[in-house]
Amino acid sequence: MDPKQQGVKDYYYILGVRPEATTQELQVAYQELFDKFGPHVTLKGEDAEANVKAYKDIVEAWEVLSDPYKRQEYDKVNLPLLQKSHLRDLWGKLTGVKEEAKSKDEPPETKASFTVSLREAVKGVVKQIRVEDANPCTLCSNKKPVDRMKCQNCRGMGSIRADRVEEINIPAGVSDRQELRFPGKGKIDQRSKRHGDLVVEVQIEPHPYFSVLGKDVCCTVPVTLYEAMLGGEIEAPTPTGKVVMKIQPLTQKGRVYRLKGLGMGGQGDLLVSIDIVLPVQLHADEVVLFRKLLTVSSQPNPRVEMFQKIQQSNQQQQSPPAQQ
Ligand SMILES: [Zn+2]
Repeated sequence: MDPKQQGVKDYYYILGVRPEATTQELQVAYQELFDKFGPHVTLKGEDAEANVKAYKDIVEAWEVLSDPYKRQEYDKVNLPLLQKSHLRDLWGKLTGVKEEAKSKDEPPETKASFTVSLREAVKGVVKQIRVEDANPCTLCSNKKPVDRMKCQNCRGMGSIRADRVEEINIPAGVSDRQELRFPGKGKIDQRSKRHGDLVVEVQIEPHPYFSVLGKDVCCTVPVTLYEAMLGGEIEAPTPTGKVVMKIQPLTQKGRVYRLKGLGMGGQGDLLVSIDIVLPVQLHADEVVLFRKLLTVSSQPNPRVEMFQKIQQSNQQQQSPPAQQ
């Protein structure tokens, strides 16, 4: 790494302000730090040494940032570097805040994810989510990092754990893996002292009978041989209950019925695919009747077409190959 880059001091960090801070904000920050670290503060031993170092840094930062020309020059060279500076990475690790800011103005967003049942996704639900937040330590958050490390109140973290429970509204019809944004409900940004957005990825729990296809919900429903042949009304399950639906006479296996408005959030449909289940045993009476049926059956042999096609393709293969 370029030694010049390694030696860059983050003057904004030292003064505890954002890179966009106004002159007035800088002035306030400097005044507060001067009161804490200025030459009038008497300390002994190691603390005194650290204090002098901190004061030098503060003055150096102030001298550059309070001068519009010097500040511009400093920003031009250093701002891109400071965005990735080691100090900030370390700060992010200590506070657990991921630095994923969209722009320099926005505090970083807090990512979370949780799982809802299909029923909840269809109807919508209010969920509670724990946000692992932290408040700035009242004793040391405005001090230099070197002093922060000595703070007993927060054990050098610069912040105190302050978890919150947020109630978040999952709208009806949410999709799997959809990201929902809740402005200002995320963790506090230790630099700007503002709460970032909470971004929640919703995952829909797999269901043993339903699957989600966009806004539609799909389900396979078994019917008897008689229902499939004669048609009629059957009950079909929906993600939130059940519904009575009509099936046509001679409904084939795999036929799909679309039930309008019974999908996700009332926007999609419920797609019912029909499966035909044959009886696993027959009474002697049934066997007699089925045999009788067979004698009057008008159903053609369903394998005729299949054999014709196989024969055709065999003949094509036997014919001489086409000239290249
Ligand atoms: Zn502290």
